[in-house]
Amino acid sequence: MNVSKEQIDRIVRDVIAGVGAQNKATQAPQAAAVTSSSAAKTARAAVLVEPRKFEIKEFPIREIGEDEILVKVEACGVCGTDVHCYKSDPFGLTPNVLGHEGTGEVVKVGSAIKMDSVGKAVKPGDKIVTSLLETSPDCLVAKYNPAKANLSDDLKVYGLLLDEPDNHLNGYFAEYMIIRPGSSFFVVNDMSVDLRCLIEPAAVVCHALERAKSCGNNPLNFRTRVVVQGCGPIGLLMIAVLRTHGVNNIIALDGNPDRLEIARSMGADEVINYKEYSGIDEIAEKVKGLTKGLGAHWGFQVTGVPAAHANLYKLIRRGGGICEVGHFVDGGECAINPHRDICAKEISLVGSWVYNSFEYPNAYHFLQRAERIGLPVSSLITHKFPLDQIDEAIQVNLRQEGIKVVVEAK
Ligand SMILES: [Zn+2]
Repeated sequence: MNVSKEQIDRIVRDVIAGVGAQNKATQAPQAAAVTSSSAAKTARAAVLVEPRKFEIKEFPIREIGEDEILVKVEACGVCGTDVHCYKSDPFGLTPNVLGHEGTGEVVKVGSAIKMDSVGKAVKPGDKIVTSLLETSPDCLVAKYNPAKANLSDDLKVYGLLLDEPDNHLNGYFAEYMIIRPGSSFFVVNDMSVDLRCLIEPAAVVCHALERAKSCGNNPLNFRTRVVVQGCGPIGLLMIAVLRTHGVNNIIALDGNPDRLEIARSMGADEVINYKEYSGIDEIAEKVKGLTKGLGAHWGFQVTGVPAAHANLYKLIRRGGGICEVGHFVDGGECAINPHRDICAKEISLVGSWVYNSFEYPNAYHFLQRAERIGLPVSSLITHKFPLDQIDEAIQVNLRQEGIKVVVEAK
């Protein structure tokens, strides 16, 4: 069967735009939205009004349109990006209702919406998570290469949108959220609220795994020896997704012994506390000792420290690969040696940026499978705070206590 590029593009575009949206065009809108009985009139939201200052404000819940959904928020994880926003380094997104790792219960469904983004029926009472919003119609990346929509300059997610006069409920650090037209969203009823809060960061590591796998001559399989550098929430999920994917021989690298213990529970076979070594050369010797004298096949760089990127090359064998997934903000520069580090080793180097909406189902299956094989991923949530203690939630994150901090909408 011959399938044209246009047909493939259309299929990918439909998956990204959401089967619900596609379905919408063929369904006659009904007169009224489908509502559950407990809809409130107002919603409290934690508004970042200026850098380092939240105010809990109460907004009226506006009427939703026929292609919108009203969600009663349950909980939302605090991301490193939220903390950067809070400190205004580098984003200056104020005023803004933050929170993009959230989940909640559908309260009201616009009459034109029948299904979620993979064709599952949606109704009041369903538990959902959201992924990317549609980019502007002028975005050429999304138009001609929708499988790479994550590279659009116009990338949008809830929780990172500026407050608008008529649209306050744009993020999950609030009691209610409105899902607007063109959003991708998924019904995930059969999952605990904790796991649902981890779907968004899980999508980040699923995307990184796919990026590494895109280097076809350098597979990730049962025999692959991998170093994961950095054991924050994303690094720990990275270890879990590699393990769930069948990769053994995972070496975790961090300077925090508590995090290294958690790394073991996520599937790391060996842990290295870099603070116990005199420098990268000594660490490289240790890694060689664990990898038949050759170094690791793959390294995943999951810190925001530029020098850590430069160091990682020294832990990788000739013909190996590096996936950079730690620098979500510009942390500065580092010096590498193009001859020794890249050329002479024939290193496959890939960057990984956010995720695409169609990777959410992968993230869902990864988390479920991880728990089933005994990786306690939901235990990565170490702290929970109510909405009016959002400041403390951010401070705990800033102090790097625990792993994943969650804000509950109560
Ligand atoms: Zn995030």
